[in-house]
Amino acid sequence: MHYIIDYNICALLITIITMLFFWVNPKLKDRQDQFYEVIGCFVLIESALNIVTVFTDGHVPEQVMIIIHMAYLFFVHTLPILMFAYTSELVGKHYHHFLRLLIGIPYAAGMLMLFTTTYTHWIFYVVDGTYYHGTGFTFLYIEASFYVILVFFIVGGASQFISRYKKCTILFFIGLQIVAICIQYIYPQYLVVDLAGALSLMSMYIALHSAGSITDSLTQAYNASALNSLIRTYYSRQKNFYLLGYKICGLNRISEVYGDAYRNGLLCYVADALKEELGGKVARIAEDEFGVLIEAKITEKEIKKHINQIPCLWGSDDYEVIYDAAKALLRSSDFLTPTEIIGMINFAFHKVKKMGKEELIVIDKQLKAQYFRWNQVHEAIVDALAKNGITVYFQPIVSMETGEIFAAEALCRLTDPVLGSISPAEFIPVAEQSGLISQIDNRVRNIVWDFLRSYDIRKAGIDHISVNLSVAECSQPFIVHTIEDEAELANVERGTLHFEITETVAITSPAILAEQMRQMQLEGFCFHLDDYGTGYSGVTNLISLTFRVVNLDKYILELAEHTEKGKIIKSMISSFHECQIKVVCEGIETPTQEEMMRLWGVDYLQGYLYSKPLPCDKFVQFAKIQRRTQHTHASIIA
Ligand code: C2E
Ligand code: CA
Ligand code: CA
Repeated sequence: MHYIIDYNICALLITIITMLFFWVNPKLKDRQDQFYEVIGCFVLIESALNIVTVFTDGHVPEQVMIIIHMAYLFFVHTLPILMFAYTSELVGKHYHHFLRLLIGIPYAAGMLMLFTTTYTHWIFYVVDGTYYHGTGFTFLYIEASFYVILVFFIVGGASQFISRYKKCTILFFIGLQIVAICIQYIYPQYLVVDLAGALSLMSMYIALHSAGSITDSLTQAYNASALNSLIRTYYSRQKNFYLLGYKICGLNRISEVYGDAYRNGLLCYVADALKEELGGKVARIAEDEFGVLIEAKITEKEIKKHINQIPCLWGSDDYEVIYDAAKALLRSSDFLTPTEIIGMINFAFHKVKKMGKEELIVIDKQLKAQYFRWNQVHEAIVDALAKNGITVYFQPIVSMETGEIFAAEALCRLTDPVLGSISPAEFIPVAEQSGLISQIDNRVRNIVWDFLRSYDIRKAGIDHISVNLSVAECSQPFIVHTIEDEAELANVERGTLHFEITETVAITSPAILAEQMRQMQLEGFCFHLDDYGTGYSGVTNLISLTFRVVNLDKYILELAEHTEKGKIIKSMISSFHECQIKVVCEGIETPTQEEMMRLWGVDYLQGYLYSKPLPCDKFVQFAKIQRRTQHTHASIIA
């Protein structure tokens, strides 16, 4: 037969180019990459061997001809089962050993027929230097088609687990293979199966393995999903490693001050420096965050030394940018799953930020325990929200002038069946970090609205109940309408509910906050600036935002008590008064503190000296008793 080898030469060239790209560009070297590499090599060898068969047939001894044909047929007919295994890996489908054996039977039968063909002549035979197909040759086509069809079913069965892009690529490959097998079966002189294989290989590379899908376009480091895959691969191979998290602090600020070009330059510099110093696999996992996977061949001490050698300084002729970096290092052997690892690095960054120090923290047993506790608390919040497990306590706020209860702060409480009572100081930050805070605030507000509807606070001499409004809740675009609707539904006087906003919120987004507050104030709501003295104490916010009340944090009390700086706070309070802003001091625990506040001119007091936060019924009782005592006291004086 006269074979047309032009298609084969094309196939060989396409495969060489594709594989060169694959070898030169960055790759993950995970199981998918390994399968791909093996398939690429098989296509390369079989295309070459196919050409060799055409040129050597009739020109070499018969034994050599047989070996070349056998080798070619081995490579070409191993490809379909490899493609099947590769696709299973792509869609994440793993088979039981027995099923794998069953699936391998047609391949094993084909190979048995091939390697015994010198005796049986089933697949092919050579007579007088001429190659002939045997009676069983068709079986090899059927076997190849079997695996191609199997791939089709795998993709169909797992279609909801894979992206459309992946699915289309695999379907393209199946279609191409089926068409090529049919053509070559009908017209054996057209050797198009290799070309189909080469085109499939190329399309797979472009769609699934090209560097673009695993690297960050700016820094050319790996991207977050690539790092995830790398971690999973290391886990599956039971290889120990270190993961270093490196976060550039204040990247947005750098962008604002020096421009985007500097920001981009800095990111590239950090990626290169990490690669150069640590040599591991560097990935950009978030806007300002890098993750470096380092094989556990070097010690923790060496890693620390290398990190310290990266100067937090980068610049061109115009400017030098000095930046801070938060760094967290963990050892894979301390963790059970890859998901835990990524979660832990983010947790560590949060911790570093909170601690306010930009040095390397090594994730040890203690931090790991904190992380697990964080997860438990998170679950407890989710559970409590689902099962109405959030309750509200009320802490009285007393008037300095009359000594009577003037208002109260609603503080939420969480009791978990397993963990017991969890302090808000612990669960509020978890809720803030995980985006559950809005739901908590919402629940607390609803409880307070119900309370206001069932209990006339004004009759009890209480001016208002204040609730805390979190950072996340404040930034919600619909918050104004939501709260208006709630008030409408509750049908109570709007001034009976006040909102406490922490100073940090006011700092983060003053423009949005100012607008939300303006709209809500028009609707009759009132705002307090909470925790004054713990944040940045920005005067701008006090001027630009209309707060009716300022809550001095208990921290200020401690500070003023133990230093000579009390005078500053005293003059601050008189400035507030000049602006018609009332002042509450929180955390009053002793009569001495109360006396000091009287001297400073504080208007209202809140603290354990008067009462701890109380459950609803106890609070109502407290208010009644206090009022009765005051009245009795007043009538005795009269
Ligand atoms: P905060 O808004 O500053 O609330 C005052 C905190 O001081 C309360 O802690 C209160 O129990 C505590 N406290 C009051 N008097 C004294 C005292 O004399 N001594 C001491 N040592 N502490 C006193 P709590 O209830 O543990 O709440 C802690 C923080 O959690 C609150 O601080 C607030 O920021 C947050 N939080 C509580 N409930 C909510 C809520 O429903 N939503 C939001 N977003 N945050 C809440
Ligand atoms: Ca508060
Ligand atoms: Ca406070």
